[in-house]
Amino acid sequence: MDFPILIVGGGISGITAAVELAETGREVLLVEKEPYLGGNVAGFNNYFPKLCPPACGLEINFRRIRSNPLISYYTSAEVQEISGTKGEFRVTISVGARLINNRCTSCGKCTEVCPVDREGPDSYGPAKKAAYIPGGLAFPMKYTIDAEICQKEACGKCVEVCDYNAIQLDARPVEIELRAHRIIVATGWRLYDASRIENYRYAGEPDVVTNLEFEHLLATCEREHKKLTRPSDGETPKRIAFVQCAGSRDVNHLPYCSAVCCSASVKHALTLAESYPGIMAEIFYIDLRLTGRNEKLLNKAEQDDAIKLTKGKVGRIERDKNGNGLILEVEDIMAGTRRMDSFDMVVLAMGLVPNRFLPAITTNENGFYSAGQIQGIYPVASCKRPMDVASSVKDATAAALKAMHR
Ligand SMILES: Cc1cc2nc3c(=O)[nH]c(=O)nc-3n(C[C@H](O)[C@H](O)[C@H](O)COP(=O)(O)OP(=O)(O)OC[C@H]3O[C@@H](n4cnc5c(N)ncnc54)[C@H](O)[C@@H]3O)c2cc1C
Repeated sequence: MDFPILIVGGGISGITAAVELAETGREVLLVEKEPYLGGNVAGFNNYFPKLCPPACGLEINFRRIRSNPLISYYTSAEVQEISGTKGEFRVTISVGARLINNRCTSCGKCTEVCPVDREGPDSYGPAKKAAYIPGGLAFPMKYTIDAEICQKEACGKCVEVCDYNAIQLDARPVEIELRAHRIIVATGWRLYDASRIENYRYAGEPDVVTNLEFEHLLATCEREHKKLTRPSDGETPKRIAFVQCAGSRDVNHLPYCSAVCCSASVKHALTLAESYPGIMAEIFYIDLRLTGRNEKLLNKAEQDDAIKLTKGKVGRIERDKNGNGLILEVEDIMAGTRRMDSFDMVVLAMGLVPNRFLPAITTNENGFYSAGQIQGIYPVASCKRPMDVASSVKDATAAALKAMHR
């Protein structure tokens, strides 16, 4: 009898590989470092090409995971060490302290009484407290406590209100030894550090946000039926600029195209046009790379009066000293002019870089994992190169097929 197949990373590609394998009768172990499955997609407002909510793709997979006893998953867990070879890997994982256990019924009383505010890039979600539910689509649907900021026994308010005895503030991390027949690495992507592009003023300018932050902002507004407001003063923005290739295709930062950012900005602009009338969006691009079904989104954007597409690379972003928002300096290629124009908010379409965890896996010249370097370990989807959800799902299915072969 073979050992189970281990999947590291529980985003859409890791989940896809897990259900495909389990539904052919293979035992699967899924290890995810966050307290929830779904990866980046779980925090989205909507996703192209159909602009449907992330629940469309994730919920069905969560149901398949729930109903399949061959899948075991560990959240808040990371791989510490891998040894052995194809067919008989030994893997040590550490599972973070679970301050809320499986008795949680998601009633939310812990968040209501929690006195500690929680900030950070993933602080979207109904409440930004140390006790929180991670995103609107949390799976497993359990509250979690950020152990780094929780005051634990010094506070204990959540313990007092929990009717299910689900809170255990003295929980400690545990190490677990696993055996694995094959390993699929689906650790995905993160954004290139926006503060490294100094001329775009991300550090210190609250109204300059990354495209992922903007996605989370739209998701929060949609979920909480809120107006879209700009971070600096809570006013409704009238003009929002999208700066393409922020970091990508730039020899000083990332030499490659990040593949999904043009489609993401067009998606954001269409969402603004549909849900926030009165806000103008202008996308500044070198060239717009939307292919396949996403080209239809571009056609739609071209016909929308609330969206302007301008060919030109943004050189600089500055706060206007007379209070007129943010000034963008851009070369308008088609008009043959240098433009200085003011906007209320700027969204940086950031380049993508891979999440890496295993130094032993070979990377290519751009730092992404290369396929097939160690026998029995298969990197998959967006840790190999930037790709959209549809391509990630296809790649994950292909990896599942490879992993099930002896
Ligand atoms: C702003 C923006 C908008 C986008 N919009 C769309 C869209 O509308 N449509 C579309 O098709 N694509 C979109 N994309 C691309 C989409 O996000 C990716 O295709 C998708 O996230 C790829 O899924 P994945 O599972 O490979 O990676 P991820 O979603 O990154 O998931 C990887 C998972 O691995 C986990 N992980 C990482 N390291 C470890 C570790 N060491 N141990 C354990 N777990 C780990 C992470 O926590 C995460 O859960 C967008 C991208 C951006 C930047």
